[in-house]
Amino acid sequence: MMEAVRRGAAILRGGGSALDAVVASVVALEDDPLFNAGYGSVLTTEGSVEMDAGVMAAWPAQGRRGAFETGAGAVAAVRRVKNPVVLARAIMEHTGHVLMAGAGAEQFARKLGIPLCRNADLISERALRRWRSGMARGALESRAERPHGTVGAAAIDARGRMAAAVSTGGVTGKMPGRVGDCAVIGAGVFAERLGAACATGDGEAIITTALCRQAVGALEGASAQRAAGRAIARLIAARRAEAGIILVDRAGQIGYAHNAQSMQVGIFDSAGRFRHVWAAPIAPPARRR
Ligand code: ASP
Repeated sequence: MMEAVRRGAAILRGGGSALDAVVASVVALEDDPLFNAGYGSVLTTEGSVEMDAGVMAAWPAQGRRGAFETGAGAVAAVRRVKNPVVLARAIMEHTGHVLMAGAGAEQFARKLGIPLCRNADLISERALRRWRSGMARGALESRAERPHGTVGAAAIDARGRMAAAVSTGGVTGKMPGRVGDCAVIGAGVFAERLGAACATGDGEAIITTALCRQAVGALEGASAQRAAGRAIARLIAARRAEAGIILVDRAGQIGYAHNAQSMQVGIFDSAGRFRHVWAAPIAPPARRR
């Protein structure tokens, strides 16, 4: 994870954009089989990989003091794209759409020269082993064994541009075709003039509470840390679900909160420091439904 943070930091230090930085960090995590995104994603009940990813950016509007422009892109249930976050960004930058799914999204990736692969190339040995043992115990259908490892990044650059990106294989034992929060702008990822955020956890609850939209909105009059905590507390109250969130505000303040068993955060700040945090949960993990 810290290697992924370093890649993003190198871009920011070189004067690059927050969007470039978050995408570079997420690509590094997608390529690493330790994480539930890209190669190493968890498997559906049918034993295949289906991935979701999203990006959103907010940047100061030229010539309009205090105004921000935004852009967003997302992919859902893609099966053959090596780095879904790259395709999500391409949808934001090269189409008039926000969310593309499945085969159509993959066709668009091919047109742009974004690398495709076989679904089998995305399946790590570890994911297969876990899937087999889950299936053997009937654990997948009961959703008793949700692994974590969804990845995301949020950043602000020297020009005040903010961005967040998120990517996941979803939840183990999901039905083919199930789409989670990472593909839903406002739920798993969001950015606007106040800040940028991305989330992990119970996708269905994150969608129905529009978690990242709520958290960024809460930055009006609250610190980044307080906004993150409030968003998770609200999700617990509304859904008794489990989630984590990271966010950055337009002053470069960082916030994170979760109520999962564990969540790790890698931080690069404007003083040039790198930090690795095992974030303490703000409440005990929610009981599985
Ligand atoms: N939020 C992801 C999903 O529901 C899973 C996770 O973050 O663990 O697809």
